[in-house]
Amino acid sequence: MKNQEILEKDLKYNWHPCTQMKDHEFLPLIPIKKGEGVYLEDFDGNRYIDAISSWWVNLFGHCNPYINKKITEQLNTLEHVIFAGFTHMPAVKLAERICNLTKMDKVFYADNGSSAVEVAIKMSFHYWKNKGEIRPLFFSLENSYHGETIGALSVGDVGLYKDTYKEILIKNITIPIPKDKSEEETNKALRKARKIFEKYHKQTSAFIIEPLIQCAGYMKMHSAKFVKGLKNLCEEFNIHFIADEIAVGFGRSGSMFACEQAKIKPDFMLLSKGLTGGYLPLSLCLTTDEIYQAFYCDYTELKAFLHSHSYTANPLGCAAANATLDIFEKENVIEKNKEKSKYIWESIQKFKELPNVKEIRQTGMITAIEMIDYPWQERKGLQVYEYGLQNGVLLRPLGNVIYFMPPYIINKEEIDRMINVAYEGIKRVK
Ligand SMILES: *Cc1c(COP(=O)(O)O)cnc(C)c1O
Repeated sequence: MKNQEILEKDLKYNWHPCTQMKDHEFLPLIPIKKGEGVYLEDFDGNRYIDAISSWWVNLFGHCNPYINKKITEQLNTLEHVIFAGFTHMPAVKLAERICNLTKMDKVFYADNGSSAVEVAIKMSFHYWKNKGEIRPLFFSLENSYHGETIGALSVGDVGLYKDTYKEILIKNITIPIPKDKSEEETNKALRKARKIFEKYHKQTSAFIIEPLIQCAGYMKMHSAKFVKGLKNLCEEFNIHFIADEIAVGFGRSGSMFACEQAKIKPDFMLLSKGLTGGYLPLSLCLTTDEIYQAFYCDYTELKAFLHSHSYTANPLGCAAANATLDIFEKENVIEKNKEKSKYIWESIQKFKELPNVKEIRQTGMITAIEMIDYPWQERKGLQVYEYGLQNGVLLRPLGNVIYFMPPYIINKEEIDRMINVAYEGIKRVK
């Protein structure tokens, strides 16, 4: 089979995510035959460095032999079982390990990031209801992204995904973000946040944030002090703090979890994406004993949290997650990544010389190059994407922002290649 045959058949039947399907009249789909390490290989034999970890999920490479082995063992033991009234080893083991790592107390399983956001929103609202208060509002940050189901979209702020559906969303108030990580900007934004907290806190269940990096929101970054300041406001005004670490968790922010840098324990922490090393859909909504206890009582009222998904805590997903944590334990990943991110940062200084580059920024293993404000409709990022594909690197931009979020196993040579192709691609933008 060749690329052409497969993509023709694909376009006959499939409808792809986050895509204007008409684009595929000029922009060919790429059918991938296999993956190995940082590489993806198509049916014509072209290889691409996966510089975006396949939408930020992959941590230790495609077809990682260790994770493959662990999933296969689980597959031959138990593929799935109902998680209401039943349990299994992979879920017990994973929950214990995650609680130890995050210092959270309870794990509620779901099966994708957006679902974990829905769980947290519902659990927070329901908590207040169990306490006798109705709090229909949520706070989130300007430019935030929390997924695309209705609840998750409601607390997000990327117009591209949200505006179409505005008539059917739940109520949310947006808090302005700082322009950068500086002390001055941080304090300014915190003062604005305080005004909003003062005004609306009584009707508000929770505040949700992507700590340190707004990934889908064009890789905008803020300081740990900003995160800490918002946590303080949540405590002062008695509102839940939801840390959406779906994208930044598992080392992407430079520490295992971004909350560590802000030195906070949130009321909810959400994990997905890297959780299974990029293998299987699984997500976690972690919470505290205090919140758990508000639901714990005799079965007489509607106080129990009755949310459920068919594939809750799928054993194969849990086995992949346990294997991923094994690698973190064995290989000193966070420390090794520090050298890699430093090397990436040094290597991209040359982008500043390009006349069409406005800013470069980095937090941990996420590095972004923002081009000048080309009008949105001109889709300049797409030119870099196409150049990348022609030269063996998968760089899927966010508007005018090109970014690197590679699997952690990437080596120096591959980093050089990834960066040089991005550089040449940006240089050629017309
Ligand atoms: C990707 C993402 C989500 C949604 O996860 P899905 O698995 O795509 O539904 C939520 N929050 C953040 C911060 C994300 O990056």
